[in-house]
Amino acid sequence: MRAGLGPAVPPDPGARHRADARTTAAPDLGIGIDVGATKIVLGIVDQGGQVLRRAAIDPWQHPALEDNLANLMDTLDRLLAPYDQERFFDIGVGIPGTVDPSSGVVSYTPNLRWFDLPLGAILAERTGRRVHVIQDTGAAVWGEYLFGAGAGLRNVVCATIGSGLACGIVIDGRLYGGASNTAGEIGHLHVAGSSLVCGCGRRGCVEAGGSGLGLVKVFRRAVADGAVSPVAALPLARQDARAIFKAAKAGDAVCLGAIETMVGYLALGLSAVATVLAPDALILSGGLSRERELLVEPLIERIKAISYHTVCENVQIVPARLGADAPLVGAAFLHRAPEFAGGPASGPAQWSGLARRAAGRWLG
Ligand SMILES: [Zn+2]
Repeated sequence: MRAGLGPAVPPDPGARHRADARTTAAPDLGIGIDVGATKIVLGIVDQGGQVLRRAAIDPWQHPALEDNLANLMDTLDRLLAPYDQERFFDIGVGIPGTVDPSSGVVSYTPNLRWFDLPLGAILAERTGRRVHVIQDTGAAVWGEYLFGAGAGLRNVVCATIGSGLACGIVIDGRLYGGASNTAGEIGHLHVAGSSLVCGCGRRGCVEAGGSGLGLVKVFRRAVADGAVSPVAALPLARQDARAIFKAAKAGDAVCLGAIETMVGYLALGLSAVATVLAPDALILSGGLSRERELLVEPLIERIKAISYHTVCENVQIVPARLGADAPLVGAAFLHRAPEFAGGPASGPAQWSGLARRAAGRWLG
């Protein structure tokens, strides 16, 4: 799980008690935790948005949540150990699901199957630090707003194009969650005329065609209609977005066509977002945003081709600058968000009876 993520954290249990030569009176380092469906990345981030040290663990290493949390705490301890502990700001966590940032409670994560988990309070009690929790798309837009393609702007939308599609929203320098903190679920915007079935069960959602999984659906529909492609000869599990982009780069017309269709879906959704919110910047992020030539550039062109003139004139549509680190970097500096500045989402003192009872359901 550590491939491509830099060196693992070496075990050094005594180090946390040693003074660091670079001790400063005021905190200067952020602690970010980016929880993904297949890995959890932890990182120490400086005030320029650079990740100084990182570690990654498998969220499903153990069958029980309690054991996985213990593993997370152990990894965090080792990550922070070489530093003077006074140097750290609060802990920030990005979650792939719906979160109530005011309580640090994770309402729902489809991939990890967490319901009403008071993660902020649990982590605050175990670390003795203040903990802020937010949806990963919120963490990503916050990272790009502070240190990336949205730096210096006030209104920023960051769309994460990966296996699904969603966006984080900053309006006038504040993270926007909307009713029940579910703003930005643009993957489920209805696109008239689409017949593909979405993961949510409905037909016609943008992400049913405009996402990594959507691209595979578009491709398979073409093959079912008689198109011939080398990707169709791969085992089903390997007929994924990566294989389709690879074949497209080699000139496969069916894959090129599927990507073009995907771009069309994405453009419909993102044009609507840009028109409604008129952000200073609409940032294209997520794993698939690495595909500049085949995805990002045609997508920007397509959005501009179908959008109202005010969008074309006023909204910068640009690729992300922080890449896959955006949620990690944004999480590490959540304490700078106005909604978290007045007090912790979860501090040790907020470990209330309610949170204890909720945690009891999880931790026994
Ligand atoms: Zn849907």
